[in-house]
Amino acid sequence: MVKIGVLALQGAVSEHLHHIEKCGAEAVSVKKPEQLDDLDGLILPGGESTTIRKLMLKYGFLEPIRAFAKKGKALFGTCAGMIILAKDIEGDTEEEESLGLMDVKVRRNSFGRQVDSFEAGLDITGLDAPFPAIFIRAPHILSVNDHVEVLSTCDDRIVAVRQGNLLATSFHPELTDDYRMIGLFVDMAREAKVKA
Ligand code: GLN
Repeated sequence: MVKIGVLALQGAVSEHLHHIEKCGAEAVSVKKPEQLDDLDGLILPGGESTTIRKLMLKYGFLEPIRAFAKKGKALFGTCAGMIILAKDIEGDTEEEESLGLMDVKVRRNSFGRQVDSFEAGLDITGLDAPFPAIFIRAPHILSVNDHVEVLSTCDDRIVAVRQGNLLATSFHPELTDDYRMIGLFVDMAREAKVKA
């Protein structure tokens, strides 16, 4: 069975674990870098990217996650997780290094504040019918390079992308009872496992 971890430093963890199990994979809450060793995929959840970055550095996650990605294992960043995956964060003033794995430039909080949270039915490449996407102080992607496939847009803004073994969405797929987005990711992890 494919084993998928959720980085459990801060943010929406339990909902992701539930989705992973619904998609027929084993779900693990990841609190220590050593736990990455026997995983096939890792989800970086939504939350507060500044806080998650600080905690990733504190607990020594940066290099182990980069090595994990380099091995071809699957990574999925949702909302704050998308920000952390991006190589370029617009106007970033944080001292802490970020993961910087995806060739995208991201803008934080580009859909307004918490009170402006909304749901939109999005067409997403790989899914047969619109997905109910929930946006909470969500980022969007300003630009991508040639290696990045745009999977979805919302109001002309890029909100879902894939670059090989890396997947990212501006929205929170785990906050609905539609399991197809995590399902897509579990399939990616399964494919990566077969390749390895
Ligand atoms: N606005 C948050 C940030 O910049 C992300 C919000 C979320 O993950 N729902 O980190």
